[in-house]
Order: sequence, then structure tokens, then C-alpha cells
Amino acid sequence: MRPRLDIPRITTLLLLLLSMSLAPILAQEEQPASPTPRVQPPATVTLQGDGFTVGQYFGPLAQGQVGLLELSGTDISSAYALLRDREYDFHLLGDHWYALLVADIDAQPRAYPLAIIVQRADGQVLTLDSQITIESAGYIRQSFAVPADRAYLTEPEVERYEFARLNAYTSPQTPAPLWDEGLFQRPMSSDYTSGFGQFRILNQNSITRHTGWDQRAPVGTPVYAMASGTVVFASQLDIRGNYVLIDHGWGVYSGYAHFSQFNVAEGQTIERGQLLGLSGNTGRSNGPHLHWEISVQGEWVDGDAFINMWLPTQP
Ligand SMILES: [Zn+2]
Repeated sequence: MRPRLDIPRITTLLLLLLSMSLAPILAQEEQPASPTPRVQPPATVTLQGDGFTVGQYFGPLAQGQVGLLELSGTDISSAYALLRDREYDFHLLGDHWYALLVADIDAQPRAYPLAIIVQRADGQVLTLDSQITIESAGYIRQSFAVPADRAYLTEPEVERYEFARLNAYTSPQTPAPLWDEGLFQRPMSSDYTSGFGQFRILNQNSITRHTGWDQRAPVGTPVYAMASGTVVFASQLDIRGNYVLIDHGWGVYSGYAHFSQFNVAEGQTIERGQLLGLSGNTGRSNGPHLHWEISVQGEWVDGDAFINMWLPTQP
């Protein structure tokens, strides 16, 4: 017998073909516009040392923000800044040296001494003393419900293990910046649904900090690289689910969580705006969304503030 025309199946096929032809257009729409080229702002403060100058490109920093220092002078062989018992190396780029400082998320709001230690080629060590003010960012507390089948992911040891594992990836400092003159941009254009730094009470069981920003994203939304770099991790984590981590140089990393699909692999060099994968709902997530985060010198920082900073690029 001759099979009869299967109308529902043909309709499904037509819809599938239609959605496939629309997919590139939809994907295009989701891509955030390239930022307009940013020009170097004047230094907020200029400090004069013995034979060297330090430009400070920030005023008071809120908890979780990053500050840029620029060092110029002759016969410098190395330099670092010392803030809150942490050393931040200066990296040579063109004829200037740069360091990225972190006002960490847990710092008590107050003024802190900042020392710049410069080693000259002749072995002489020079120190310049300054200070920076860290202000409260006013991070709020929020309750966060994790679905019952994933409730084990609220256990503090699951989180400690994941942070320790990620820290091994975000600690190395590639000596050159890998971003292009477009610097950093958002990974997609949708609205923010949750901000960096919040204290989250998980199922009334444990408390954690929100290390990144969340954006509205139905499952399958394209996620694009925030800046050029190298993929150092593209695999599964307990909390972050399917996760991509990119090394951008100078100890700056961007991470993208809860993916439903990977489009890149570890070791791959990627350009700003390149498709990394599709958003999803994997890991410790209570609904489809994109969580993205920025780590600088091994610390999670306010990514939205960071991507709006001016940064020097390879000459
Ligand atoms: Zn998040």
C-alpha cells in the first residue's frame, strides 16, 4: 500500500528548515556591537619617584574593582606594587610598564598603603609610597533556591574544591596582553539579571559570593568571547556546569558557565566576538541563563567595571 502523506511530519520538517535558515540571522542579532575604540584617559594621579614616574588610572576603588598603574623610567629591570600584602607585577609593554591591582571583594573599606618597588638595571632598589582608598560596594544579600536534585551542589566543600581547581587555571600570568584594541565587550547583548558580589544564601544551607554577572539567555543563545585570548578550559564543573575559561594575558581570565554546547576546545586561540558555545542550564543553576566572570591575578573581580576600563594593547 502506498503511504499516505504525513502532514504533521512535513510541517515539522518545514519548521526545522525555516529555523535553520533563520538561525544565522538570530545569532547575528545576539552579538553585542563592537565597542567604539577607547582612548587612553589622563592619569588620575601622577607620582614622581627617583628617576621614574607612576601614573595611577583610578581614584577610590570599590570592593571588587581593578586599578591600572603605568610606570615609566629608564634602566628599570623589574617592578611590583604592594597592596594589602599582595605583590602585583609590572609587565613591560612598548616603553611603559603596567600593573593591574585588585581591590578585593572582602577588603575593609578604608585607605591602604600602596608601595611601588622598582629594581634598576644596576641593582638599586627604589620604593615609592602612596595610598589607595577602597570603598564599600554595598553588596546585598539574596536567597537563592537550588533545585532539589542539585541541592548537593550547595555543600561548602563542593564550592571549595571548585574554587581551588579554578585557581590553578587562573593563577598563571601570561606576560603579554592578548586582547586587541577593541579591549573587552559583553558576551551577549541581553539584560543583566544579577550582579557581581552579592552574598547568596543557598537553600538556607550555605552562603557564597556571586563571582560574576548573569545575563538573560534562553537555552541555546550564542555566547561570544569577550576579548581575544587562548581557551585554557572547556569542560564540565560541578557548580559552573559546562564551562569555558579564556586566558587574556597579564593574569586576566574570562569564564562562561552553564553552557548547553561547546564550540571551542582547550588550547584554541580565539578572537574577540568569536562563538564559544551556546548558553544552557547545566551545573548549579536555577534556570537558563549565562553566568560570566572575570578573574584578575587569581581574584574574582567586578567584570562589568573591568570591561569598561581602558587598557593598553600591544603596540
Ligand atoms: Zn551567576
